Amino acid sequence: MTTRDTQQRPDKAYLASLSFDSQAVHGGNLVDTTAGAIRTPIVMANSYRLPDDPTSLDWSDAQTLFYTRNRSYNQLCLERKLAAMERAEDAVVFSTGVAALHSIFFTFLKSGDHVVVSDVTYEAVWRLFSELLPQRYGIEATFVDISDLSAVRKAIRPNTKLIHAETIANPTTKVADVGAVAEIARNASAMLSIDATFTPPPMFRGLEHGVDLVVHSLTKYINGHGDAMGGAVIGRAELIGRLKSDALVDVGGSISPFNAWLITRGSVTLPLRLARHMSTALMVAEVLERDPRVAFVTFPGLPSHPQHELASRQFGGMGYGAVMAFAVKGEPEVQNRFVANLRLITSAVSLGHDESLIVHVGKAGRGGSEHYPAEFRTYGHLRMSIGLEDPADLIADIEAALDETFA
Ligand SMILES: *Cc1c(COP(=O)(O)O)cnc(C)c1O
Repeated sequence: MTTRDTQQRPDKAYLASLSFDSQAVHGGNLVDTTAGAIRTPIVMANSYRLPDDPTSLDWSDAQTLFYTRNRSYNQLCLERKLAAMERAEDAVVFSTGVAALHSIFFTFLKSGDHVVVSDVTYEAVWRLFSELLPQRYGIEATFVDISDLSAVRKAIRPNTKLIHAETIANPTTKVADVGAVAEIARNASAMLSIDATFTPPPMFRGLEHGVDLVVHSLTKYINGHGDAMGGAVIGRAELIGRLKSDALVDVGGSISPFNAWLITRGSVTLPLRLARHMSTALMVAEVLERDPRVAFVTFPGLPSHPQHELASRQFGGMGYGAVMAFAVKGEPEVQNRFVANLRLITSAVSLGHDESLIVHVGKAGRGGSEHYPAEFRTYGHLRMSIGLEDPADLIADIEAALDETFA
């Protein structure tokens, strides 16, 4: 590195030998040679001092610190930390989760290529593959029920270059059998990208299940405090290098140094927060499922969930995430009344924050909602992300709101 010592403290090999909780604390801490501070400073500069002979620099280089769109000090810290957490060779971070997802499609797909996509995905992915990429760039996409492995196999074509799915789908909570889908991708010589936003490490490390590229919206659990946006792709150095040189440098969805610093800071407590999010979510889901005023609840931690056993196996018994979808009995205005009666749980989009969040998605749903289970189409649904509040307070809030709504 030409301008600043970016040595890992502790060193990379030792860090790799530590447990996840220790990696979450110490990963990505780089030595600060200016003042010797043991906390990583925020470097807001958009340029770095050039080497004595800059004429040999490759201006698309994302390995050298010279311009913050290509690489910045805090971006580098966050990438090192995420790579350590996923036990990966490398990571690249972007300004949002959607920029991270798009970087994969932009870098690895071209006109005439075919993609197999889960029929329930984040809204932006649905729109990219149902509309924007096919219409503008001639990329073909087939939407499949990702839990139906024979349907996934049947959807493969000679020009299939990529399979894309979410570990737990947003918002239906359908669980993908990642190892089985990875085998299908391998046999087809296609890449597999998995959006693991709902299932961050240590509960799930996609690369160990045969995934090529793991995606996270850092906006959610990894930052965890609802105050910064970011996205990451994690995998083999060769693939991440291509994402950096094509999508980061030449499309430019680079993360701000301040947001990278915030997310690095938030990620320190990820293992502690995740355990709490998940244990509370299970309690809340059980309460909802027992209540006769609740029409349905879907959460992978409930034995009634169609992929409950798969989720138990795949997530190593650590938990089932902390996002659930449900509805109270009644028309959309009853759902709205229930949400209005909540005092602790906040009506807002996003998830994985310290505070619990709920969003009422009406019967019309989002793009692709014809693929949602029947009960979603009958009642609409409420997507709820369980935060870090005391479980008893959350349950009391829900019960009081139900009492008021059905009084
Ligand atoms: C929020 C989310 C995204 C998008 O991330 P942004 O940071 O909002 O761009 C992608 N995938 C999933 C599963 C998400 O929940």
